[in-house]
Amino acid sequence: MAVMTDPAPFWEIKSLAEMSREEWESLCDGCGRCCLVVLIDDASEDIYETDVCCRLFDPAKRRCKDYAARHARVPDCVRLTPQNAGAFDWMPQTCAYRRLARGEKLPAWHPLITGDRESVAKAGVAVDPFLDSEDDVPAVQIEARITKKR
Ligand code: SF4
Ligand code: SF4
Repeated sequence: MAVMTDPAPFWEIKSLAEMSREEWESLCDGCGRCCLVVLIDDASEDIYETDVCCRLFDPAKRRCKDYAARHARVPDCVRLTPQNAGAFDWMPQTCAYRRLARGEKLPAWHPLITGDRESVAKAGVAVDPFLDSEDDVPAVQIEARITKKR
């Protein structure tokens, strides 16, 4: 008798370049950590997160307020592609794009595995909902807003 097994999920059998637009978008766990202002130490190249976010980020909803026009409105908003997704050391180590591009698995708490969009927050990976916008924090104060090393 043949034994039926579930097919492997798309992120285990497709490369990033082979994914549909919908599959690609579903990889984002909604952590919001690529929308934080980060500081990079020129000498050590260590990366530090702050509790300050991009002016277009809504920290309570963990969403970009203008996703469709984000690159026009925020020129340094990262433009991830299958080709460059593994190239940014400043991206969070938890980010699905970075992980898959570097040959790593999705974390067990990823919403695609749990079926729960809030599993990223329950795992303690999502950003704080009370971040300040970069528009409200003078540049000279950013260093004092460091929360942790990434
Ligand atoms: S860091 Fe990655 S997973 Fe998190 S919000 Fe940004 S693109 Fe999505
Ligand atoms: S423009 Fe939107 S997606 Fe890009 S960093 Fe800002 S909030 Fe995040």
